[in-house]
This record gives sequence, structure tokens and C-alpha cells, in this order.
Amino acid sequence: MNLHLDAYKTALAQFNRAARYLDFSDDLLEYMRYPRREFTVNFPVRRDDGSMEMFTGYRVHHNTALGPSKGGIRYSTAVTLDEVRALAMWMTWKSALVNIPYGGAKGGVVVDPRTLSLGELERLTRRYASELIPLISPHSDIPAPDMGTNAQVMAWFMDTYSMTVGYSVPAIVTGKPKTIGGSEGRTEATGRGVVVTMTSCLHHHGETAPDRIDVAIQGFGNVGSNAAIYAHECGYRVVAVSDIDGGIYNPGGLDIPAVVAFAKERGSVIDFPRAENITNEELLAIPCDVLIPAAMEGQLHGDNAHKVKARYVVEGANGPTTPEGDDILNDRGIIVVPDILANAGGVIVSYFEWVQDMQAFFWDKSAVLERLEGILTAAYEQVQHNAEEHNIDLRTAAQVTAIKRVGEAIMTRGFYP
Ligand code: GLU
Repeated sequence: MNLHLDAYKTALAQFNRAARYLDFSDDLLEYMRYPRREFTVNFPVRRDDGSMEMFTGYRVHHNTALGPSKGGIRYSTAVTLDEVRALAMWMTWKSALVNIPYGGAKGGVVVDPRTLSLGELERLTRRYASELIPLISPHSDIPAPDMGTNAQVMAWFMDTYSMTVGYSVPAIVTGKPKTIGGSEGRTEATGRGVVVTMTSCLHHHGETAPDRIDVAIQGFGNVGSNAAIYAHECGYRVVAVSDIDGGIYNPGGLDIPAVVAFAKERGSVIDFPRAENITNEELLAIPCDVLIPAAMEGQLHGDNAHKVKARYVVEGANGPTTPEGDDILNDRGIIVVPDILANAGGVIVSYFEWVQDMQAFFWDKSAVLERLEGILTAAYEQVQHNAEEHNIDLRTAAQVTAIKRVGEAIMTRGFYP
């Protein structure tokens, strides 16, 4: 396995760095290093040709001191229990950092969804959802989309759960289509939030003219494409984007709506006219002001962080920078806006969706976006303030803030029994 994908090791190293600034007992710190529950399921799926194939899935609950556990479901061949564990831990800190009443969870199935027909994808989703029933409910654990899953997958999830209990339960998942209880603004929330936190960071450093800022984005899935769209709308110059097959670069700026239309038709951004094809590795080293890794873990590491030319890294993905990568970027004075802050927009609007479902009372888009922006801007200011107060980087400051909230909740509740 690729060493840089050792996600749980990264999550623990980040935790240990933050722990130095926390006045907590060793016992409490040790407790927070562990996931609370880990669930593995192996299940059959009928292929279209009539054959049967076995698949493996996971769901991990990291910590539930602040509320029901929350986090996405990933379909990818890179899914391992170790990865899901790390992603669940990051969800605990992310929710705590932006003050929403959730614990952290994550799920995944080891599968490349592009190799499945729509019918196979539906059967896989429904069987995985039913295997998770002992673990999920609107009051205990609420899944959402992540890499390789989308609103349609969430709709099947919601329908499977509802059919099992005998009545409709929209609040069982977030990121659903709007027709069945999804929220306005959820699809674009993560990418939009990345741009909101990037803007807060740039403004803090006196950089208020978006047309003077060149942005490069690795990943053109839900997060990367929506970050590109909103950055373009805000007047930033998006000079490079990439997907799993490679990327494109135009130093004069890409016409993002045209790239989105092109990628939709062709299945990739590669060969977009009026741009040069580049590799994903080249994208990370492209000349720009802001680099947004929005693909997956471990992309910036000890062997390539010295090549980054951006002055800011804003993490759209979860865990895109290893601790060795962090050290190099920090030494070089490159500012890293960490994942649990930069990509929290998704879970914030997921929280709004769950609240709307529970109350059966829906908000208009402007209310969703205004509240999203308010929470993210306040969280950025708080993290920036803590970083300056303790003279630490933004990641450590964000983790300290989040871990402190979770640790205090655990202590207030007390150890059971
Ligand atoms: N999968 C997203 C994340 O990593 C969203 C999770 C959610 O909305 O619950 O933050």
C-alpha cells in the first residue's frame, strides 16, 4: 500500500501534536485516540449477468460525547478499516470545531463504483444500508455522501431504512435529493465552504482582490468542482484543475463553466481546449497563489511538499497533507488552512438538513447559505486567534480547539459506569 495513505497514523500524529497544548490527563487523551465502535460487513451483490460477488464495507463511530455520530460513506477501492477510522476521527474534530452537536463517524465499501451498472450500484447500496441497520438511526448515527457516493445513493439508503422500519425517515441520511427532504445548498456546500474559508484567510493577510489570486484545484468531484465554480463566481482566477485521469492548466485562467460542461460530456477534464494537459503531480507544483487539494488523503507529503509553489494550501479533501508534508510547508512559510475547518461546509449544511427533516420545516437557500457563511467565518476567526495566541500553525490551533470541546464534554458527562 502507498505509505502516504496511512491515514490513521496521520490522524494520530496530528492529535499528538495538539495534545501538547491541552491541559488534559493522559487517560482522557488516550480515550480520545480510540474509535468507539468498528463494524465490518461482508455481503453479496447480484451482478447484472446473474453472478454473485462478495463486497466488504465498514462503519466506524469515533466519539459520540457531543451527540449522534455523523459522517459520509465512501465507495472506493482504497477504502480500508484504517482509512475509515481516520476519517471518523476527523469528523469528530470537524463537528466540534464548528460547534454542531455531533460526534464523528465514517463508512466505506471497497468498490470502484464506476465498474458497476446503475442497478448493481443500487443493489450494493441497499444491501450495505440494511447491513448497517443495527448501527444507524436519526438519533444515533446519520450517514451522508463522500467520495464515490452522491444524492441518489443517499435516496436508496433512505428508502431501504424507511422500508425496513415501515415509515419514511428522511433524517436517517443527509445529502439527499431535495424532493425527499434534502436541503437547499447541500450539494455545493463543501466546495463553497472551501472558498469561504480561503477568502477569510486571504482577507486576514490583506489580500482582498480576487482577480489577483491564482487558484489550482486537485480533484474535480463534488468538492473540487463546486470549489472551482464558486471561486470563479467570486472572481478568483482558477488556473488548473484535475481529476483522477490528470489535469489541465491555463496560466491566463480557465473558463470554469465551460470546463464543467466539457467534463460532464467527456467524463474527464483532460483535453479541454485552450489548456495544457498536466499530471496530478504536476498540478501540486503549478505556479499559483492558492493550492486546493480536493481529492484524497496523503497527497502532499515528505517527497513533494518542497515543490509546492502556492503561498496557501486550503484543504478541500480530508487528510491531504501528511505530518512530514506539514513540517515542510510550515518551514517554508506556506499557510495551510486545515481540512476540519476548510471542508466543514458539507457537514454544516448536513446538520441544517437533519434539523429541517426533524422539524419537517424547510428553509430557503439564502437562509442556508447565510448561516453556513456565518458559522465558517466565525470558526476561521477563532482558529486564527488561537493560532496567534499560542504561536502555532492553523491545523494545530483547529485541532486544539476541537479536541478541547470534546474532552470537556467527556469530562462533564463522566466515565461510565
Ligand atoms: N463526507 C463529508 C465530510 O467528510 C460530509 C459528512 C456529512 O455531511 O455528514 O465532511
